[in-house]
Amino acid sequence: MKRLIDRIDTRTATEKLGLECWHEIEQTNAHRVGDLIDCSQCDALDFPLGLSAYKTTPVFNQQTIPKGFRRAHSTKKGVWALIKIVSGQVHYVVDDLDELCVVLDENLEGVIAPQMMHHLDVIGDVELYVEFYTH
Ligand SMILES: [Zn+2]
Repeated sequence: MKRLIDRIDTRTATEKLGLECWHEIEQTNAHRVGDLIDCSQCDALDFPLGLSAYKTTPVFNQQTIPKGFRRAHSTKKGVWALIKIVSGQVHYVVDDLDELCVVLDENLEGVIAPQMMHHLDVIGDVELYVEFYTH
């Protein structure tokens, strides 16, 4: 997914370039602030370091999952989320990654990258909630 380089991160030992998705890349002559690049870490649904949870939904079940969760939608810029399963299973489909489908259960949470279109396919009994993260 294309991401904007929006800062130079001087907190790290070697200066890195920061992307709007909170991932970082090594500083090279090829990239500078303001460039749009393909973020392979987003495409791998690699949850960035250093984020904090700021909001959690109630626990939903197969009947109460909001309709919007079942249609393609996305979080806002800079907002990551984790889909946590309390019981059962659900299909987590990432529309923007060629409809990648992951079966989530109690042992596997779903990682939602900022602005990446995704939806849930309910396949049976499930209880889940979503946690939202940003810097
Ligand atoms: Zn990224």
